[in-house]
Amino acid sequence: MGASTDGGHGHGGHGDAEPGDAAAGPTVISVSKVSPRVRTIAVVRPTEHDVTYLEATRKGLGVTLRHFMKNFFGRRRPAEALARGEVVTAKSFIPWNEIETIQYPEERTHYPERFRGLHRLMQRDDGTVRCVACMCCPTVCPANCITIIPAEIDEHGVEKAPALFEIDELRCVVCGLCVEACPCDAIRMDSGMHAKPVEERGHAIMTREMLLGVSGEAGKDPKSTATQGGEGPAWRE
Ligand code: SF4
Ligand code: SF4
Repeated sequence: MGASTDGGHGHGGHGDAEPGDAAAGPTVISVSKVSPRVRTIAVVRPTEHDVTYLEATRKGLGVTLRHFMKNFFGRRRPAEALARGEVVTAKSFIPWNEIETIQYPEERTHYPERFRGLHRLMQRDDGTVRCVACMCCPTVCPANCITIIPAEIDEHGVEKAPALFEIDELRCVVCGLCVEACPCDAIRMDSGMHAKPVEERGHAIMTREMLLGVSGEAGKDPKSTATQGGEGPAWRE
């Protein structure tokens, strides 16, 4: 245990709190006579025992073992067992297993409304991609997983469109910043789908066509009625 001195004089020890007791606050060793707000407190340093990995490993293994025992020997509550068409036995009444396995994708759990799923690219009324290759989303992306190569166009009152638009779903951290940054509702993460499992690294890269096709797979309207530029009656509905 050491002490941090910040200009204190005199001694006015507060001794009730144990060092390291966060709720009680730091142990004050002395208070400055000139400025009572300047105090010397005891600094609690971790012991050698605390900084070895052994203790943390022991605790972690204990948690893992507890979950394993719960999953392996525990039983679901009777109502849940009945709802699943299972036979209710005496063991079903042991109310200590609340951990369930969802048989995905046959079974789906309820996702919150703001769940960020697989990206999808939106279309205009005529089916063209809404993206104007403004580069806002690759700029803001913290995982650097969006690649866009712009091409010049002269349609829809815009000057650019993505000749190439790719997202590496394995690198994506699902932060949603690309959606927030997009000024024209060209990219959404409301598909409710997960990124698909892949066997090769390169297969996790979604191309422009794949991203345009996600709406169909998710059963969502691929067209955005938002006015290009971010304003409009149905913006992000
Ligand atoms: S969700 Fe985040 S990490 Fe993923 S592509 Fe968008 S900005 Fe990048
Ligand atoms: S922010 Fe929107 S419009 Fe701009 S490049 Fe990304 S998807 Fe395209």
